[in-house]
Amino acid sequence: MSHILHRDLTTPLPVAVGGQGNTLIDENGNRFLDACGGAAVSCLGHDNAFVREALKRQIDRLAFAHTGSFTNEPAEQLADFLVSKAPAGTGEGRVMYLGSGSEAMEAALKLARQYHLENDEPSRTQVIARAPSYHGNTLGALAVGGHAGRRAPFAPLLMDVQHIDTPYAYRMQKEGETEAQFSLRMANLLEDKILELGPQNVAAFVAEPVVGASLGTQPAPKGYFKRIREICNAHGVLYIADEVMCGMGRTGTYFALEQEGIHADITTMAKGLGAGYQPIAAVLAAQNVIDKIAMNSGRLWNGHTYMSHAITTAGSLAVLTYIEQNKLLANVRARGEQLELSLMARLEDHPNVGNIRGRGLFWSVELVKKRATKEPFAASLGLAPKIQRSAMDAGLMLYPAQGCADGTSGDHVLLAPSYTSPPEEIDEIVRMTGDVIEMELGKLG
Ligand code: PLP
Repeated sequence: MSHILHRDLTTPLPVAVGGQGNTLIDENGNRFLDACGGAAVSCLGHDNAFVREALKRQIDRLAFAHTGSFTNEPAEQLADFLVSKAPAGTGEGRVMYLGSGSEAMEAALKLARQYHLENDEPSRTQVIARAPSYHGNTLGALAVGGHAGRRAPFAPLLMDVQHIDTPYAYRMQKEGETEAQFSLRMANLLEDKILELGPQNVAAFVAEPVVGASLGTQPAPKGYFKRIREICNAHGVLYIADEVMCGMGRTGTYFALEQEGIHADITTMAKGLGAGYQPIAAVLAAQNVIDKIAMNSGRLWNGHTYMSHAITTAGSLAVLTYIEQNKLLANVRARGEQLELSLMARLEDHPNVGNIRGRGLFWSVELVKKRATKEPFAASLGLAPKIQRSAMDAGLMLYPAQGCADGTSGDHVLLAPSYTSPPEEIDEIVRMTGDVIEMELGKLG
């Protein structure tokens, strides 16, 4: 019996013992082609020698020096790299390192609060986020998330966060409404909410540039974030971009927001930042935020023991250096186009495929009971988890997400292949994914 408190206490899990390229291997020698990077984490596969060697070198040099007294080389170099790649407008930003996406969200919220206090606007305490959304599992991050099911058991412990609708074109764009109209209508929900709460009370707006797990790789309609930026600027509200899942190259640029032509005041990142080689997350604060703090207290009102850990930052620096040196973002864009076209060719005409959407190497297939009405399958069928289990039996890792229990979205299957994927592996992923989806849908009759 396992003594780990697994997510599922009853079903035994295969024991992963190694990796080869983009394939994971269990203790019985079974192989699993990783089409989702676990949860969009493993963007360089499972046996990257460059990253491994960098980690070994760092272990031999320095592991830990507390940030109360020291900085260190890999942490500084990684911050330089992240700031150099940040969207125009970020300026001389600064980076704080943490251990998980949830921690990064917590730190981002505290930083927004600190900014407003240093700016002499203590009444700005309200946070506006979107629903559906997922921003993490710690209490602050969970409160920000717009996921009724995850929030419900902990509701009495959560701070009050206001939510507006996430633009979800497949179900929300009205008949005859252009993308520009849809985009403006959805972005203006933020302004309505700010005015309702009183701008003087609003600290921050939180949104993923490309929505990940909660809605299946949903890019924003064109122009949405430009309008969001305008609204935030007009009302003195900070925009926190959650790039934990969509960032670090997943959509074809280091920062997903770069493709929207705006910058965020505060950005969180994780998953691809360490590519699974190290557990690391980061918060990037733009220059406008840093300047305010530098001019006032001059101190960050946040700290964790393991911030700027030399081994985790060295691992992350090696991941990003490898991506840069091997021009992998070009591969993300090329393989992303291939993935889109192949998914469309294989699944678009299936009567239970409602929508295929995504960007870069970040794609989802939304499944529905009836295409004409977009009616989702009953949540009780557990379709997405069944597809995941069948895929594992077939030697393929997929990331499933159950539709919202209130029927406002269908089950979806999320694909996030490695940036190192060759064309033939993308073909194999689409072939296997198509087979598994068709098989499980076939069982429903
Ligand atoms: N934000 C987003 C968009 C995520 O997808 C996740 C995790 O899936 C998180 C935050 C939380 O990250 P972590 O699980 O590392 O705490």
